[in-house]
Amino acid sequence: MELLKQRIQRDGHVKAGNVLKVDSFLNHQMDVALFGEIGREFYRLFAGDGVTKILTIESSGIGVACITAQYFGVPVVFAKKTQSKNIDGEVFTSRVESFTHGRVYDIIVSKKFLTPADRILLIDDFLAKGSALSGLCTLVQDSGATLVGAGIVIEKGFQGGGALIRGRGIRVESLAIIDAMDDETGAITFRE
Ligand code: 5GP
Repeated sequence: MELLKQRIQRDGHVKAGNVLKVDSFLNHQMDVALFGEIGREFYRLFAGDGVTKILTIESSGIGVACITAQYFGVPVVFAKKTQSKNIDGEVFTSRVESFTHGRVYDIIVSKKFLTPADRILLIDDFLAKGSALSGLCTLVQDSGATLVGAGIVIEKGFQGGGALIRGRGIRVESLAIIDAMDDETGAITFRE
């Protein structure tokens, strides 16, 4: 998505440790007009797939997921991060290793909100090593719902998550795929 790539080039900052900071438009301050274009693009890609629900993970996936859901006319469910050890049986749960914080979380979704009748589209802001998306896939699998695919705003293609998830036969559509970035020069190279 050209508009998104231009915005990343203009306002993104490459930090040490392969972190791309996009907090002026994506995950701190949010450019809602840009989110509208992102949602429209996800709708174009998945409109024919009978999506009944969008699933994301708190907190930075929620904004994009909500705007996208308006195009599909479906609800959004977000997986909650928790560190509590005693999770009751009324939730689906999975384990996620945080790329940005280096911690391990359990993520949970109430069993009320994912059912075998659902066709789920996963949405997230970033795909790096694939732990967050993998955790969401597990929740969907455990619920018996159908996984339609995943829509990712920015994939860092050099960190292996995309290859991992696509290798499991899951459709992943990323609107911008970064092949390389350099925190010394600030250069960002996109996949064509
Ligand atoms: P993964 O689980 O694929 O390794 O990482 C995905 C999660 O980590 C995303 O939900 C996102 O919140 C966060 N993340 C990964 N890489 C970056 C990055 O370069 N910049 C920012 N801002 N968040 C990232």
